[in-house]
Amino acid sequence: MRIIVCIKQVPDTMEVQIDPETGTLQREGIEAVVNPLDMYAIEEGIRLKEEHGGTVIALSMGPPQAENALREALALGCDEAFLLSDRAFAGADTWATSYTLARAIKKIGDYDLIVCGLKTTDGDTAQVGPGLAEELGIPHVSYVGKIVDVTGATAKLNRPIEESYEVVEAPLPCLITVTKEINVPRLPSFRRKMQARKMEVVVWGVSDLTGEKSRFGLEGSATRVIKVFPPPPRPGGEMLSGDATSQAETLIRKLRERHMI
Ligand SMILES: Cc1cc2nc3c(=O)[nH]c(=O)nc-3n(C[C@H](O)[C@H](O)[C@H](O)COP(=O)(O)OP(=O)(O)OC[C@H]3O[C@@H](n4cnc5c(N)ncnc54)[C@H](O)[C@@H]3O)c2cc1C
Repeated sequence: MRIIVCIKQVPDTMEVQIDPETGTLQREGIEAVVNPLDMYAIEEGIRLKEEHGGTVIALSMGPPQAENALREALALGCDEAFLLSDRAFAGADTWATSYTLARAIKKIGDYDLIVCGLKTTDGDTAQVGPGLAEELGIPHVSYVGKIVDVTGATAKLNRPIEESYEVVEAPLPCLITVTKEINVPRLPSFRRKMQARKMEVVVWGVSDLTGEKSRFGLEGSATRVIKVFPPPPRPGGEMLSGDATSQAETLIRKLRERHMI
């Protein structure tokens, strides 16, 4: 099997702060990590390779330091890594990101399955997986909690719904986005980490890809971020005093005043 895993490098969210003046992320000195939900995509790709044989290719679009994310994927067991990095790709919204990844995948060549994380911890849109599948003209199944089987020309997949599972079959090649219920990501071995340091990360810029140049980066983006701001602090709660009856009466009055009941 040839499996492509898409990963994005994101700021470590536990540390991210938004500058109240400019509304931009304060990135200085903040560690960048593989998008946590993409670790499940990497793990699933490697498990499929271990079961069926084949190759796992990690793909990322981002600034030059996103190479570190790809090295982590190699250390975990991916076989090849491609980084799409060029000033022309900067400022891409999900539309342009999907297009760029699709152009790179067309160049990478044949594949059976593309695995994406469910969503990222910074952009948080969950649009890139489905957008990429549309660009490639292949089916996609989002929110996959289990790969039941990938045999011949079909993938059989479980999607968790309220209190049960939906079983879905999709013809290969297809794209899936995976939930964190799908597996428990492994840690890289020391030996593999050392090997990954020496493995090649292929870097492609805009001149390496075919396609309409006007569809990359900010120019190819149909949307613009107007403003980013943290939610206003929540006002403190109010403690009701008195006995249970008077507390209940006060609560009902306050809910009525707010037209909540
Ligand atoms: C309206 C809007 C405007 C934006 N404008 C800008 C801007 O001006 N400048 C800017 O830097 N960013 C901008 N962004 C952020 C940019 O769109 C995202 O960084 C990028 O498109 C990925 O979207 P996401 O993080 O929501 O990914 P999601 O759709 O949540 O990601 C789902 C999955 O897709 C895959 N994936 C996502 N991104 C990548 C990637 N880069 N490489 C490989 N795989 C990936 C991963 O498997 C991931 O788990 C904008 C976003 C929006 C919604």
